[in-house]
Amino acid sequence: MFTRKSYDAVVVGSGPNGLAAAISIAQAGRSVLVLEAAETIGGGSRSANLTLPGFTHDICSAIHPLTVASPFFRTLPLEKYGLEWVYPPAALAHPMDDGTAVLAERSVEATAANLGVDKAAYQRMMAPLVANSEGLLADLLGPLPMPPRHPMTLVRFGLRALWPAQGLANIQFKGERARALFGGLAAHAMLPLGDIATASFGLVLGVTAHAVGWPMPKGGAQKITDALAALLRSLGGEIASGITVRSMSDLPAHRVVLFDVTPRQLLHIAGDSLPSGYRRSLEHYRYGAGVFKVDWALDGPVPWKAKEVNQAATVHLGGTLAEIAASERAVARGDPSDKPYVLLVQHSLFDASRAPEGKATAWAYCHVPNGSQIDMTDPIEKQIERFAPGFRDRIIARSIMDPAAMERHNANNIGGDINGGIQDLRQLYTRPAIRLVPYTTPNEAVFICSSSTPPGGGVHGMCGFFAARAALRQLR
Ligand SMILES: Cc1cc2nc3c(=O)[nH]c(=O)nc-3n(C[C@H](O)[C@H](O)[C@H](O)COP(=O)(O)OP(=O)(O)OC[C@H]3O[C@@H](n4cnc5c(N)ncnc54)[C@H](O)[C@@H]3O)c2cc1C
Repeated sequence: MFTRKSYDAVVVGSGPNGLAAAISIAQAGRSVLVLEAAETIGGGSRSANLTLPGFTHDICSAIHPLTVASPFFRTLPLEKYGLEWVYPPAALAHPMDDGTAVLAERSVEATAANLGVDKAAYQRMMAPLVANSEGLLADLLGPLPMPPRHPMTLVRFGLRALWPAQGLANIQFKGERARALFGGLAAHAMLPLGDIATASFGLVLGVTAHAVGWPMPKGGAQKITDALAALLRSLGGEIASGITVRSMSDLPAHRVVLFDVTPRQLLHIAGDSLPSGYRRSLEHYRYGAGVFKVDWALDGPVPWKAKEVNQAATVHLGGTLAEIAASERAVARGDPSDKPYVLLVQHSLFDASRAPEGKATAWAYCHVPNGSQIDMTDPIEKQIERFAPGFRDRIIARSIMDPAAMERHNANNIGGDINGGIQDLRQLYTRPAIRLVPYTTPNEAVFICSSSTPPGGGVHGMCGFFAARAALRQLR
């Protein structure tokens, strides 16, 4: 099944981080094999026909600011392998109950102009960070930068980033529009917005909206995976799917192995080859909230009350900052809100290949407690109806994935956690355990390269890139 008896490196898992790791290793002239449990490769970057023939849905990742911002992916000729980016005019829309919407546009000025009393405050907060975004994102998309390469920008960022998102939004802004926009961005943290450092998520995602945009690949997230896989193969790398690695004895001969899995799986597969102290750290690793996801095939686009929502693919539904904060608090309490904060993406408005002519797709999820079995279909659809009356009349078919279905789809989504572990301040840089180089383990041949290492979740490949760097040092 494999072309060689032995490889320099084996990568277990073909998510964006697994493929990024394999590409880095192949670029260094080493032999590498990727083993993937699922029949299809790509982990959290896959697309499928989830509802009806002719409709293409992204099963997991849908919008890719971190892919285009990734210092590693930016160096790869992925366009040569079929990847084509589609940029909606605005990064995101946040409809309000008064029938208008706040837009995060590419320009800081244009966005601020839509924020009434908070025009100047928004510009003061965002403009300096956006002006230095390349350095800032390079520092943030990796392990703790010691020393930081761009200290002044990092200090300016850190002074606000360490705040709880709700506190920062309430202090910086006077009006509901700017507060809601910031709350919707920060809620990507999947943490209560009163928690320390949740503002960092609002700032980073806000910076990406202005600095790089929030694009989608034409044809679906699978196209990112397909381009990475084609590039890997062109470099001599191999990929084998439909192979679940259950123990170290399942691996062909290798000098190093990189695991694109989370700590719980690493313990099962390689626990016997790791010392007890490290094993204990992995046992204490914490997972976060899960997601409940719905995809729809629609008889036409979502009928938004605020027409400006049609300028963005990503839509944050939840109304005011206070309401979004209440929804995230409820998830943390274990009792999801019946008015959840909903992330919605309307791909087909900007990419006609996703649905038959005249029809449309919509993708959405809300946060739920880890492993929750509560059906959130109705609360999610009610939130959409609130800002788009008549939405339900356009539904032709729907696909529903609760946390258990997310985990069946990809074993890394433990209890529906899409980030490979909670991303609070305590665990962001110490994932999966406290080590100088977090991608290494006490076993010199074993590395971890998934989003359970810094910088965490998202399709950026930086966990894989840094893990490969560590593994290549060992190979030398
Ligand atoms: C619903 C959802 C929405 C998301 N939305 C976005 C978004 O819009 N933008 C964004 O940037 N990110 C988004 N993400 C997050 C993003 O998908 C992940 O952070 C990213 O895919 C993590 O990459 P990874 O390589 O670390 O792991 P994964 O992509 O999870 O890949 C891990 C791979 O390892 C395989 N594997 C696991 N165990 C084994 C084993 N024992 N043997 C062999 N193979 C194994 C799995 O099958 C999987 O293919 C979303 C995720 C989900 C689930």
